[in-house]
Amino acid sequence: MNGSNQPREQLLVDCTPVTMFQMNSWICGDPVSKDGVLIDAGGEPEKLLSMIERSNLNIHAILQTHGHLDHAGGIKALKDGLLVRPVYLHKSEHPIYDTVEESAAMFGMGYVPQPPPPDHYVEQDQVLEFGTISARVIFLPGHTPGGVAYVIGGHIFVGDTIFKGSVGRTDLPFGDTPTLVRSLQLLMQEDDELIVHSGHGGDTTIGEERRTNPFVQAALSGQVWA
Ligand SMILES: [Zn+2]
Repeated sequence: MNGSNQPREQLLVDCTPVTMFQMNSWICGDPVSKDGVLIDAGGEPEKLLSMIERSNLNIHAILQTHGHLDHAGGIKALKDGLLVRPVYLHKSEHPIYDTVEESAAMFGMGYVPQPPPPDHYVEQDQVLEFGTISARVIFLPGHTPGGVAYVIGGHIFVGDTIFKGSVGRTDLPFGDTPTLVRSLQLLMQEDDELIVHSGHGGDTTIGEERRTNPFVQAALSGQVWA
């Protein structure tokens, strides 16, 4: 499949945890062609810009796994800093994405500028091409209605759908556990070797989660937790 045809050793992957939420903002790119993307512009744009500078990558796009405040709070400032880069988001994420500024006020975070409307919508199985980099989209709702993962070479960027040993919460507005269960079943159709980069915490692999994650095991046997 497209999106998995790049040997992983050819890709540069880097991460900066941002804001009090310690959300992992990622960059992924080709160190030879310098083509790259940023995944989830969570906040602290100065940190993101220095990660980009350090990488030497030409960032073509901001790919959003979802629209929660901790993942999207930095989009406005980063777009300004990068002199405008297109933002990719799933259409079903609007109820979340459109209220980033309000959520920040609710969390007492002070003013976080509302991200501009997304430039492009993504959908299941779509393959986005950015120079020599391609990103395949997997639609994984449940934590939020428009959550997606991006597969780039041997890496998958999953947002808050799955974490090492855990899964995303479904008790926030628009979250839904049975939907997340179906998304985990879909995610587990991916290769065991794929390296999983989550929105919070450390890396894992599809295979490791299949073997050790109790929520994944429950989902694969058709169970839905409270
Ligand atoms: Zn989230």
